[in-house]
Amino acid sequence: MSPSWVRRLHRYLDCNATCPPLEEALAAFLKAAREYPGNPSSLHWAGRAARRELEDAREKLAAFVHAEPGSVVFTSGGTEADNIAIQGALAEAHPGQIVTTAIEHPAVLQPLERWQSASAREAGWQVVLVRPDASGVVPAAEMISRITAETRLVCMMLANNETGAIQPVAEVAAYCRKLGVPMLVDAVQALGKMSVDFTALAADFMALSAHKIGGPKGVGVLLVRRGVKLRELAPGGGQERKRRSGTENVPGIAGFAAALGVIDFAGLAAVRDHFERRLLEDLPEATIFSATAERLPNTSMLSLPGMDGETLLMQLDLAGFAVASGSACSSGKREPSHVLLAMGCSQEVARSSIRISFGPGSAIGDAEALVAELLRIRQRLQAMAGITA
Ligand code: PLP
Repeated sequence: MSPSWVRRLHRYLDCNATCPPLEEALAAFLKAAREYPGNPSSLHWAGRAARRELEDAREKLAAFVHAEPGSVVFTSGGTEADNIAIQGALAEAHPGQIVTTAIEHPAVLQPLERWQSASAREAGWQVVLVRPDASGVVPAAEMISRITAETRLVCMMLANNETGAIQPVAEVAAYCRKLGVPMLVDAVQALGKMSVDFTALAADFMALSAHKIGGPKGVGVLLVRRGVKLRELAPGGGQERKRRSGTENVPGIAGFAAALGVIDFAGLAAVRDHFERRLLEDLPEATIFSATAERLPNTSMLSLPGMDGETLLMQLDLAGFAVASGSACSSGKREPSHVLLAMGCSQEVARSSIRISFGPGSAIGDAEALVAELLRIRQRLQAMAGITA
């Protein structure tokens, strides 16, 4: 990492959008690119060396999430992993129902739109979006009550990217297994931040991504349970056991494997909790979303009444802090967070939200500095609006 980034790392508080790549990941990436430049499908010595590197990474990844190496399908990221599972699982399914949550990432909600079109509905498809409670958790009982023998796929995230709220996926997965309904678990935000056990969960598919844990961008994994059939969507050379064609990104994959378990996300709970405590002392009118739910240790989503989230983001940016407003993947757009709306928040509250996601380098002092800056911004904005404190 360049010295200017190292200096700025303390104020980079948007790690759920992406984590800056770790030195370990960069070193592994470069080593693989330099020392194993062959095509892993080639039969000669160069190909075999690249294949060994690829298979080592596959084994390491599988062990980290308690999966079999044969379940690991390398992809170009979490979005592609979600798409392969959804489109592949539904490609040959008879019309029926798809059950998911209203708080999924667009990587799940957007591909499902195809089954919500007028012609899909006419053909007999129905997409059920189950809402969370006010704490941002989608109750397992609500999901289960919507799953029937007519359900062709269930999609549920393990942890929400905006609020960090952890979802009761295990209970839903167990029910799906009993009924023989395929289930996709989007564990992109959960990986590295909480324990993820693919075998114990017994879901059919799980999506993971490297760049959320300090690995390279554009690398991900789809885990596919043994015996589960998946239609190939983009046919080609038949790599990844015909589940995802295309020459594997060996350096990126090596970087992903090297990033596993390096960041102490659990240790960031102390920083996040300190930040929230200090924030509520100084700005008691602030709301912290999903505060009563089990959450990812690095995530805090909050709103300050009367302050627009985009304005806050820009003011914090001027002071050197990088945070997100609403969903990171749609930041830049002016739509309020669909997650907060689904939790029952008003448009105004949803628009006044920002997300802080701590990462490597975050310390108590950074939490203190952020609270102080938020106070300064509020005073400045109130002065500009002619309001006296
Ligand atoms: N799923 C979730 C829950 C995410 O948070 C993200 C990224 O923010 C994705 C999927 C997409 O992952 P990628 O950026 O690797 O395509």
